[in-house]
Amino acid sequence: MKIAIIAHDGKKPEMVAFLLKHKELLTHVELFATGTTGGHVANAGLEVTKFLSGPIGGDAQIAAMAATHDLDMVIFFRDPLDKHPHEPDVQMLMRICDVHNIPIATNPATAELLFKASAQLNSL
Ligand code: PGA
Repeated sequence: MKIAIIAHDGKKPEMVAFLLKHKELLTHVELFATGTTGGHVANAGLEVTKFLSGPIGGDAQIAAMAATHDLDMVIFFRDPLDKHPHEPDVQMLMRICDVHNIPIATNPATAELLFKASAQLNSL
């Protein structure tokens, strides 16, 4: 299973905590991340393939994977209380996921449910 992870700056600690909490489930998962998020996750000891940082194209790279069905899930912890110069890319990624019916969680509660459901289906 291939999962892309992205976290806006205010949400990076939450992303790391979420992944560490589910470390066992991630054994058979290939993680892909935008650059800075990936750096934090790698520092926490998890294996991850890093793309460009979000504001310079990382979200677009992840959207390209979603468009070609090279991804099974996107976990994107957005920070709705902050401004983002790459907001058009963020919207584009969510649109592409909807176009191609790729599950995308934009907050930890939804991500938790997706992981639980995937674990029950034995797809994680
Ligand atoms: P980053 O990008 O992981 O490089 O900070 C995330 C984002 O899209 O803001």
